[in-house]
Amino acid sequence: MNSYRKELWFNTHTRRAFINISRQIEECVQESGIQEGMVLVNAMHITASVFINDDESGLHQDYDDWLERLAPHEPISQYRHNRTGEDNGDAHLKRQIMGREVVVAVTHGKLDLGPWEQIFYGEFDGKRRKRVLVKIIGE
Ligand code: ZN
Repeated sequence: MNSYRKELWFNTHTRRAFINISRQIEECVQESGIQEGMVLVNAMHITASVFINDDESGLHQDYDDWLERLAPHEPISQYRHNRTGEDNGDAHLKRQIMGREVVVAVTHGKLDLGPWEQIFYGEFDGKRRKRVLVKIIGE
């Protein structure tokens, strides 16, 4: 069995953002040389997500609106977490519902995704450098 590990760095200029990282993950699979196996992609921060869905701007705005209704960023004082002096209580909750990681099959050296499936990095407390881990195992 072979294994491959890489960290991808992100630094969004907005507090919240969705970034399609499918191509970067596909490049990792090619770089690994693994033909048959699995790829794990996970956010390494507790205020960011990795998830799979459609690459459609209306849907991304719907996600953002929905998450803001569930856990509005402001007023910051509504979150006990922010009593520590932080302002990202909402981002912890948004990350929880959008998920930490995805696992995708690698078949014939490619991501074995469904027809509309794309892999996204979801940022909920951006404007700073944050990492995503890519781990591939197989042969
Ligand atoms: Zn926090």
